[in-house]
Amino acid sequence: MLELINIKKDYTVAGKPFPALNGISLNFKKNEFVSILGESGSGKTTLLNIIGGLDRYSSGDILVDGKSTKEFSDTNWDAYRNATIGFVFQSYNLISHLSVLDNVEMALRLSGVSAKERKERATKVLVEVGLKDHITKRPNQLSGGQMQRVAIARALVNNPMVLLADEPSGALDSHTSHQILELIQEISKDRLVIMVTHNSELANTFSDRIVTLVDGRVVEDTKPVKTNANQEVNDKLLNKKTSMNYLTALKTSFKNLLTKKGRTIITALAGSIGIIGIALVLSISSGMTTYVNELQSDTLAGFPISINAQVATDIFSGASGRYNELGETNDFPTTPTIYPYDEAYNTTLHANIIDDTFISYLNDMDETLYNSISYSRAVQLNVIAQTNAGGYLRVLSSVNPNSLFIGGSVLSEIPNNPEFIQSQYDILSGIYPQSYNEVVLIVNKENLIDVSILEKLGIDITDSYTFDDFIGKTFKIISNDNYYTKIGSTYVPQTDYETMFNSLEAVPITIVGIMRVNENASTELLSTGIGYTTFLTDYIIDMASTSGIVIDQMASPNTNVLTGLPFTTTITYQNVMRFIGGDSSPTGIQIYPVSFDSKDEIKAYIDSYNTDKTEVQTIIYTDLAETISTTIANLIGTITIILSAFAGISLVVSSVMIGIITYVSVVERTKEIGIMRSLGARKKDISRIFNAETILIGLTAGVFGVLLASLLNIPVNIIINNLIDVPGFASLAVTSALGLIVLSTFLTLIAGLVPSGIAARRDPVVALRTE
Ligand code: ADP
Ligand code: MG
Repeated sequence: MLELINIKKDYTVAGKPFPALNGISLNFKKNEFVSILGESGSGKTTLLNIIGGLDRYSSGDILVDGKSTKEFSDTNWDAYRNATIGFVFQSYNLISHLSVLDNVEMALRLSGVSAKERKERATKVLVEVGLKDHITKRPNQLSGGQMQRVAIARALVNNPMVLLADEPSGALDSHTSHQILELIQEISKDRLVIMVTHNSELANTFSDRIVTLVDGRVVEDTKPVKTNANQEVNDKLLNKKTSMNYLTALKTSFKNLLTKKGRTIITALAGSIGIIGIALVLSISSGMTTYVNELQSDTLAGFPISINAQVATDIFSGASGRYNELGETNDFPTTPTIYPYDEAYNTTLHANIIDDTFISYLNDMDETLYNSISYSRAVQLNVIAQTNAGGYLRVLSSVNPNSLFIGGSVLSEIPNNPEFIQSQYDILSGIYPQSYNEVVLIVNKENLIDVSILEKLGIDITDSYTFDDFIGKTFKIISNDNYYTKIGSTYVPQTDYETMFNSLEAVPITIVGIMRVNENASTELLSTGIGYTTFLTDYIIDMASTSGIVIDQMASPNTNVLTGLPFTTTITYQNVMRFIGGDSSPTGIQIYPVSFDSKDEIKAYIDSYNTDKTEVQTIIYTDLAETISTTIANLIGTITIILSAFAGISLVVSSVMIGIITYVSVVERTKEIGIMRSLGARKKDISRIFNAETILIGLTAGVFGVLLASLLNIPVNIIINNLIDVPGFASLAVTSALGLIVLSTFLTLIAGLVPSGIAARRDPVVALRTE
């Protein structure tokens, strides 16, 4: 049934072929006990490995049931080893971390036998070889003879046609040797047994036939078998294939990992460091995002959407807007040139056209979206103050139609939303102004007031003031008719402030409170100085409508009654009319949204107004809250990316380390790999087992990482709660946790691919010779 035809085997030693077998032709019967006798180094093991399909012959052929093995593929050889051959080695070659039963079952695992059948069959052979009471033991809990019995049971469990035994009693005392050989003799009744030995006494006692080898040549054969040329070719063994499924691979690896608990835990812990890093970064950044979102809806939701008369459309461009051909600003020119610059012409401001169409469009907006809409107007206040020294002076209000920029003003209008303003400002003394003749002093967060403002209010500069120095201070509003004198056809402001101040027609306005931005406010909305309500604006516009200057200006739409000059692009009829209180149309609008979500709807509403407008007609709004929160969001994003990069590096490092540990494990388990191959494991099975192992380590590392990060979140949260008073700041989302576990598993699998590939490619013969 087994026929060797002129088998030669050359090893390559130092680049030169070294012949181990020099043309061996032997024929074996279906059941006989053949001993191969020879000195050490005569080629016995080589011959046995070639018969068993562990090693490949250099030339010649082996016929198995008449079938040539010349064209055998790796898969064919694997199946041949698994189904046709049983190996028994001198050094037993048991897998030390598996139980006796599992060792025997391994051969069946590789051929895909069900768990139940595996156990039954393995137990049965173990009972047959006399190990009934030892099946749950580990190999190192057995004697040498018992270990060899396990090896024999393992070789027999697949019911192979051929049992190959390489010095099976070489490591045993003579009594045990005899017992083992009796067992093998018994086995040879049902199948072909080829045993390698250098002990002629044992060979003579137990075997039917002795083949003697010297220097890789057969020198004697006591019972040669004739070649059976007419033998029928049996293809059966080719159809069998070994197949170990992933689940079996996983279970095998799991068992292996369990035997090395300490090391597995340390590896997984090391592997989890990167995951912990990323998990913490994710926890904290998601905490930050949640925090900012809450901050937005709590504090920032109250911020208005502002539509101002002028909007800088390109805040960060250079002052002049002069660009070179590369599109860069022309900063720090090296040429000895000076360029003329007209601010009004070169400015990148966009003028919003706030006309009746737009205002009525706003009035049509869903009223549930906003708390209020406040309109600011550009009317000039004619205000006279009395100085401490008894003098009189005019107080500049915020509006100056001759300049595009507002600055240096002392008086400014407070948007008409007292609730919102009072959510951002604290009343330090007095009350919030409630009527046209009540105003408020606004100081900054350090209770500072610019000296220039004090000067303009006619207040002496001293080191400090009490609130009472301001509360009750009164200014006078002068009507247009009392303020302007008509000279010819132009109107000139009077300078006799004392008379105006003391006139009975002058309207007193009084500081009723002192207001300061509060600690929780995100920004200072109002400029410091005197703030007045829209009631005062209404009052003045009402008063101005009948004044001479307004009536005259209406009558001469082409000439500025203040200067007698024609209007220009910046000093328009409307600007002057607004200035003198003849035009109540707004120059700015503040829309106070109900919530953060309604803010988006309001913006969308304005955007839809813009859809059919030209660029000039477009309304550009400013969302201060958004400006603040995008800055914060960008900051968080940047921090998250930087931290993730660091955590990512540690993830890579830990993956590489797992790769190295897997490689070490491959080296350590070389022998085991050889054993598995001798039992018929395919290369694929070997790599599957190691991949399964890295997957398990990666999975454990991922779970460890997520759990440890969740634990670490507890002290992190305590610290953050102490710092900013936000409980439960950092938390890891379930999806992130699962994602990280998958990532960890995937990365360690990748890291293990190289070492498991190395394992799969190990030459089984070399592997088995490894100690
Ligand atoms: P035996 O089992 O009879 O002691 P072996 O079959 O192990 O002998 O070895 C036969 C010869 O082949 C020996 O000379 C040995 O040195 C040589 N040999 C065995 N394996 C290798 C190998 N992998 N590379 C080179 N030479 C080898
Ligand atoms: Mg040998």
